[in-house]
Amino acid sequence: MKRAIYPGSFDPLTLGHVDIIERSSRIVDELVVGVLNNSAKNSLFSLEERVSMIREMTDLLPNVTVSSFNGLLVDYMDEIGATIIVRGLRAVTDFEYELQIAQTNHVENPNVETIFLTTSLQYSYLSSTIVKEFASYGGDISKFVPAQFIDKIYQKYAVRPPCLPHGGR
Ligand code: ADP
Repeated sequence: MKRAIYPGSFDPLTLGHVDIIERSSRIVDELVVGVLNNSAKNSLFSLEERVSMIREMTDLLPNVTVSSFNGLLVDYMDEIGATIIVRGLRAVTDFEYELQIAQTNHVENPNVETIFLTTSLQYSYLSSTIVKEFASYGGDISKFVPAQFIDKIYQKYAVRPPCLPHGGR
């Protein structure tokens, strides 16, 4: 039984994340989406909101569960019996950081392996940071995040969503 964890901030969940979740869930036996409870990081959505958004989107994937964790990823993996870390790779800018983290985690626990899925072409530019930047100015985020979360995101910034051509979203 191969249990993997896909860790991240998911603040907010983007279509790029959803793509990695769906694809990796077809590779491993069980996938836990692990939402990092990083209190030092100022997040737009609370931990509970982020967990519940991911649960809503993964409801139909039978081998995917969602949980949150504090502290060291390898310690949490020990706790839940996971041995694989799933990460997404976008541009080359992701690479150096991801390599460092993967190697450090492997040194911390040699049973832990990191697997990387390359981003799907249409999401290669997409990050939660970009979504927040666009949303904060009332930009169109309909191609970046699941449709049911669009209004929630605009509400956080108290901006009015853009009027889109052809009847909108
Ligand atoms: P972000 O980098 O968007 O703020 P996270 O810190 O939550 O998101 O990232 C969690 C993981 O998801 C990381 O491995 C990151 O590289 C990956 N990821 C994020 N966006 C994408 C995307 N558009 N395509 C592929 N992987 C992605």
